[in-house]
Amino acid sequence: MHKISIIIPCYNEEEALPYLYKELEKVTKVMSEQEFEFIFVNDGSKDKTLDVFRELRAKDERVRYVSFSRNFGKEAAIFAGLETATGDYVATIDADLQDPPMLLEEMYKTLQTEDYDCVATRREDRKGEPIIRSFFARKFYQLINNISDTKLVDGARDFRLMTRQMVDSILELREYNRFSKGIFGWVGYNTKWISYENVERVAGKTKWSFWGLFFYSLEGIIAFSTRPLAIASLFGILFFIISLVFIAYIVTKTLLWGDPVAGFPTLICGIFFIGGIQLLCLGILGQYLSRLYLEVKRRPIYIVKETEKSKIK
Ligand code: UDP
Ligand code: MG
Repeated sequence: MHKISIIIPCYNEEEALPYLYKELEKVTKVMSEQEFEFIFVNDGSKDKTLDVFRELRAKDERVRYVSFSRNFGKEAAIFAGLETATGDYVATIDADLQDPPMLLEEMYKTLQTEDYDCVATRREDRKGEPIIRSFFARKFYQLINNISDTKLVDGARDFRLMTRQMVDSILELREYNRFSKGIFGWVGYNTKWISYENVERVAGKTKWSFWGLFFYSLEGIIAFSTRPLAIASLFGILFFIISLVFIAYIVTKTLLWGDPVAGFPTLICGIFFIGGIQLLCLGILGQYLSRLYLEVKRRPIYIVKETEKSKIK
């Protein structure tokens, strides 16, 4: 018999939770040989999510929960869940039933019978998603796979089942700027990918806006590639060469035809162009520097306000 921990990060999910819990119960019935533990993480929800946790806990001993003092983000919620989990196998799953919990049975079997340490999921398509969003998502995966050694799978979901060994490895990465999709890949191990059709969330609203996703993808690039830093040096070399050619041209021209005052527009264009590139490079540097700044402060990744054991009222 094995113990399986299921981690559910929740941010304003009071509507979706009852559906999810019902599905999870079904799974535990199908996999009745195994012991279960549900770890609900309340990521500073503004609705009654925590109350739902408390109710679930009151009627089901397998329910455990961690409640943050504010919203720390899904990455922090997953990390808190991984730290709290005690199972031999650990799963992470979204609260909105976009990932079918019934797959857990198949995933568990795979880990038992085949030589894998992790079964992860991806969606087949991006159906039901705005076209612009799909386009940028695809471009992001192309870009990061080009410039990073850690490969990311397009359409990868955060629904996965891992062995205790892999979880322990992930817990060793204590960085503050957490980009889970990269971290899961970075630790290595054998991962089997299974895919299913994209479904809409069962209730509630998505927490992601276009810009939210945009900055999240920047986070991923900065956390898993230092290649952008090289852009500054490349531009430097390029402009050095251009300036040499330009100097040769000016000198020749002046020697041959003299030097009438002209070229003011050229000058302005040049200043703007090079100034712009300098700012771009400074900006890239700043992005890395700011991550470094946050990292050296060694702030905790999350702050817990209440758990099922510390409940006072
Ligand atoms: N989530 C979270 N903290 C946040 C945002 C989201 O814990 O700050 C959780 C959310 O409750 C859900 C999961 O992360 O269980 C995925 O969120 P969502 O469904 O909004 O993302 P999408 O499926 O649209 O990518
Ligand atoms: Mg969702």
